[in-house]
Amino acid sequence: MVNLTETERITLETIKKIVQKDIRPMAGPLDEKGEFPWHAHKVFSEVGLMATLIPEEYGGMGLRYLVFSMILEEISKVCASSALLLIAQADGTLPILYRGSEDQKKTFLPELAKGAIGAFAATEPSAGSDILSMRTRATYSEGLYVINGQKCFITNGSVADLICLFAYTDPEKRAKGISAFVVEKGTPGLSYGKNENKMGMKGSVNSELFFDNMRIPESHRIGEENEGFSLMMKTLDSSRLFCASQAVGIAQGAIDEALSYSRQRVQFGKPIAHIQAIQFMFADMVAATEAARLLTYQAAANIDKGRTALISKYCAMAKFLASDTAMKVTTDAVQIMGGYGYMKDFPVERMMRDAKLTQIYTGTNQIMRVVAGREIVRGG
Ligand SMILES: Cc1cc2nc3c(=O)[nH]c(=O)nc-3n(C[C@H](O)[C@H](O)[C@H](O)COP(=O)(O)OP(=O)(O)OC[C@H]3O[C@@H](n4cnc5c(N)ncnc54)[C@H](O)[C@@H]3O)c2cc1C
Repeated sequence: MVNLTETERITLETIKKIVQKDIRPMAGPLDEKGEFPWHAHKVFSEVGLMATLIPEEYGGMGLRYLVFSMILEEISKVCASSALLLIAQADGTLPILYRGSEDQKKTFLPELAKGAIGAFAATEPSAGSDILSMRTRATYSEGLYVINGQKCFITNGSVADLICLFAYTDPEKRAKGISAFVVEKGTPGLSYGKNENKMGMKGSVNSELFFDNMRIPESHRIGEENEGFSLMMKTLDSSRLFCASQAVGIAQGAIDEALSYSRQRVQFGKPIAHIQAIQFMFADMVAATEAARLLTYQAAANIDKGRTALISKYCAMAKFLASDTAMKVTTDAVQIMGGYGYMKDFPVERMMRDAKLTQIYTGTNQIMRVVAGREIVRGG
């Protein structure tokens, strides 16, 4: 199913080694501390991973979505929070790549490629699944937009150097009245509220952002005025693929841990891996994870090959299938490891907490079924 070029294969092998050496040992402590993964940021910046999808002409790696997907999977096997840093980075970058002017691309993409941190800000306290309920407003006046409002839950929010912000420029027009903007750190009028205290994915920050008469030059609007909603949706399609890749990685990581444990753990005179009830659990876990992986790769291939009619459906299906699988598989991994699985001495309890987020963000799994169902009925 997956045909990698020699260069892509070498890239992936190199990243696997980096992940084992630099990311795996930090995953537990990062979860305990509950802070932004600065160590991962340093490692990723050094090897160019902050710019996997940015074309080489702007300083990035110019990788295919399929390869980025496989990289996220590899990182998520050991530390889903570190993968989340790269997902939020891509979410903040892609709007500029998709619809930014040449000037914006030349100004912002090389910075992001060097390690500047990106974020994507759409959600508000009253606007989650129902994103059109958002209240943040950008009013145009003499070459500037004056922005007032707030966002919440924004991954990388308070540490981001560049935020891709969505606001109403014409609220009456609903989906046809939203615009996207690049907001740089330090812009007067931008302030930060609390960083959320979360169940899992603790090695990432999720912040409240406030905009109080924040002035943004017209040159920082991404794409045409009032065309931000389609850009938001296009970016979210990709983000759902990334979330699916992260979920596949979490599921595989939990299988690896539980398998290794069950080969060692002896009860009733033999390793528990030799108990048929445990083998049946592994059979279901591996089959479900393989199925989720294949659907995720298919979704990535649809983006790479520009099969636009299929992208929303496959990204939504991959996202809900992979994340539901990750939740079930991590729960079963804890079960296979018994009391030890429940302890923080082993990573599966962290993986189970991390998996839960993949069912919620980039659009909940209920909304993913709404998206996929709509596309299927439409005949897509
Ligand atoms: C850790 C974390 C990181 C995040 N990062 C970002 C980020 O970087 N940028 C950003 O913009 N946002 C981010 N989000 C926001 C995230 O995308 C939203 O939380 C998500 O879209 C759900 O919105 P909500 O939390 O308001 O839930 P609600 O929309 O209030 O949903 C509550 C429940 O109702 C269900 N529901 C709602 N409407 C329907 C419907 N029509 N049909 C069926 N069921 C429905 C939902 O599925 C859910 O079960 C993040 C969230 C979290 C928790």
